[in-house]
Amino acid sequence: MPLTAAVRQVFAPDGPLVRDIPGFAPRPGQTEMALAVARTVQGGGALVVEAGTGVGKTYAYLAPALLSGARVLVSTATKTLQDQLYLRDIPRLAASLGVPLRLALLKGRSSYLCMQRLDAVCAHDTAAHVPTGQQRLLAQARIWAQATSSGDVAELPELDEASPLLPLITSTRENCLGAACPRLDQCHVNRARRLALAADVVVVNHHLFFADLQVRESGVAELLPSASVVVFDEAHQLNSIGLQFLSTQTGSAAWSRLAADVMRQADGPQCGFADWHGLSAALAHAVQGLRALCAHATGRQRLPWLDGAPEGVDSMAWNTALGCIATALEQAHHHLEALGDAAPSMHQMAERARAFIEQLHVFTGATPPGQVRWIESGAALRLCASPLNISAVMRAHVAQTDQASRAWIFTSATLGTDEALRWFVAPCGLGDARIVRVPSPFNYPQQAGLYVPRNFPDPAHAEHSQAVADLAAHAAMRIGGKTMVLTTTLRAVEAVRLHLQTYMARVSSGALEVLAQGDASKRELLERFAAHVQRPDGGAILVASASFWEGIDLAGAVLQVLLIDKLPFAPPDDPLVRAQTDACTAAGGNPFKDIHLPRAAMVLKQGAGRLIRGESDRGLLVVCDTRLHTRAYGKQLLQALPPMRRLHDEAEWDAALGQLDGRAARLD
Ligand code: SF4
Repeated sequence: MPLTAAVRQVFAPDGPLVRDIPGFAPRPGQTEMALAVARTVQGGGALVVEAGTGVGKTYAYLAPALLSGARVLVSTATKTLQDQLYLRDIPRLAASLGVPLRLALLKGRSSYLCMQRLDAVCAHDTAAHVPTGQQRLLAQARIWAQATSSGDVAELPELDEASPLLPLITSTRENCLGAACPRLDQCHVNRARRLALAADVVVVNHHLFFADLQVRESGVAELLPSASVVVFDEAHQLNSIGLQFLSTQTGSAAWSRLAADVMRQADGPQCGFADWHGLSAALAHAVQGLRALCAHATGRQRLPWLDGAPEGVDSMAWNTALGCIATALEQAHHHLEALGDAAPSMHQMAERARAFIEQLHVFTGATPPGQVRWIESGAALRLCASPLNISAVMRAHVAQTDQASRAWIFTSATLGTDEALRWFVAPCGLGDARIVRVPSPFNYPQQAGLYVPRNFPDPAHAEHSQAVADLAAHAAMRIGGKTMVLTTTLRAVEAVRLHLQTYMARVSSGALEVLAQGDASKRELLERFAAHVQRPDGGAILVASASFWEGIDLAGAVLQVLLIDKLPFAPPDDPLVRAQTDACTAAGGNPFKDIHLPRAAMVLKQGAGRLIRGESDRGLLVVCDTRLHTRAYGKQLLQALPPMRRLHDEAEWDAALGQLDGRAARLD
C-alpha cells in the first residue's frame, strides 16, 4: 500500500488510533500534516510545517516516519520532551501501528552517570568534598547505580539539573578517561551510543545535534548519514540553540581552573621536573591582566567587540593581554604533553590547554564577515564569537542530502507570522523547503478573550509593573488564582512579585500564594502552581520570564488568566542583535520590519500560546502594553495572535472575568 494511503487509514475514524489511543479523535489538520510528511518521506527534501496548538503534530510526523520503515532521527528541544517521545509517544504509536522497532534515546554525556567518577567521589578521601546537603543524594545515587541499565540521571528526579553533585558523578569530554578507563565495560555513555547506532529510531535533542556537528563526539554525526528521515520537533528553537553551539566561548573561569589544576601537579607522583608553580602563576597572572582591562564592565553585561577590542578597551592592550594568555597556555601545554604518556591526567590537561589555544585563535585578527564577537562580564569574563545565524551550517547539511533519499521535517506550533514563515526559514537557510501551515482546531473566539487596557501606564514608566501587578491581583482574586504573569525581563519579575506580595499582605482573607521565577526550579514552580487548582480554598499567581514564555503546558482550569507585561522586542544593544541589525541594513533591508517586528510577533504568539491548551479550555489574555493601540505596528502584532475575541474596555474585561469565575466554580 502506498505510504499516503496507509497514513490516511491510520488517522481514519475506523483507524487504529481511534481504536487504541484513549481520547483520540480524527482531526482534519492532523491528517493533512501527516500526508504532507508522508509525501516528503517518499520524495525526499525539506518540509516545514507550522501546526497550531492542538493539531497533534507528534503523531502526524511519527506515523508516516514509522510506517515508512526508514531509519529515523527525531530531535526535539529539551530532555523532558525527549523522554516523553521515548517513553510514551513512540512506543504507544508503534504498538498501535503494529510496527516493531528498535528505539533508542541519546542525550549528551552530562546526562549519564559516570561510573568511574562515582567510584572516585565515593572513595574515602574525596567523599568529604561532596557539597553539604548532597551526601544523602550521593547515597541514593550509589544505590541507583547498582540497578540502572541506562545510567540516565533523569531516573533520579531528586537530582536536579542545578545539583552540585551532578558534575561530580557525570563526565565531560575533558575528564573522561576514554580507553584508559577502568570502568569502560560499564560505561553508560558508550552503551547509549552503541544502542543508538543499532536502532531504527533514535531520539536526540537539538543541543546534542549541534554540539555533535561541532565536535563529532556523541555519535549523532555518525547516525546522520544513515538516517533517511530527520525530524526536528519544536523547530522554532533551532536557530537559537544552534547559535549557542556554533559559537565559540572561552574565558577566565576555564583558564583559571586549568591554572589551579596545573598547580596541583607540583605535588603529584609523576610531576617530572617542570616548574608547575611558575607555569600556573604565569597563566593566572595573564588571566588577571585580561580581566583588569574589562574592569569598567560591572555586573553581568554583554560588551560588543568591535574594531579589534571590546567596547571601552584599548585594542593594543587587549591583543597583548590575549597574547600573554596564549603564551602561558602554550608553555603549560608543552610540559603537560611531555608527561602525557605516563599520566592520563597530564594528557587530559594537555588536551584542555590545546583546546584553549585553538579557541583563542578564533579571537585573533579582525572579525570575519558574518560573525560577531562580544565579551560577557560577571563573576568570570567570557569571550564569545558567533555566526549571525545557522543558515550556512544547515544549508551544508540539508543541501548535502541526496534529495531523493532523505527527508527533513521541521515542525512547531509557531514558526512565523506570514505564509512563507520567513522568521524561521531565513535564518535556518531553508529557502527551498516546502511550507505547510495547519491552523489550530481550537475555537479561539469562543474559548478566549484578549484585553489590551487603554488607560495604563506607558511600558517605560516606573509605575508600569505596579499596574500589571494590580491587574493580575484583581483577576486572581476574582477567579481564585489560576493567573500567570509573563514578563520580558527578570527585573520585572522581581518588581511584579514585590507589588503582588504587598497587595496580598493587605488582603486580610483569601490571600493567594505568589510564586515567582527563581524561588524554586521551573518544574517545582509549575507543580506548585498546578496543585492549587485542586484546592477549593487555595490559589496562586505565577510570575515568570524567559523560559516560561514557551514549552509549558498548563492545560485545563490550571491557568485561566495570562498577563504579558510588555511587547517582547529584543534588546537593541545586545551585540548579536546589533550585528544582525547592521547586516540587515547593509543588505538593504529594514531591520525593524524584517527582524525586530517579526521576532516580537513570534515571541508574543509563543507566550499567548500558554493559555489555551485543549478544546475545553477557557481563558483571558491581557497584554499590558498600550503600544498595541498607539503604534502603527500594533495591528500587525495583534494579527499574529490567535483569533481571540476582543474585550474593548474595562466593563467587557470585568464581565469576561465574571463568566470565567462562574465557569471556574462549575468546573471546581
Ligand atoms: S569511559 Fe569516561 S564516561 Fe565512561 S565511565 Fe569511564 S570516565 Fe566515565
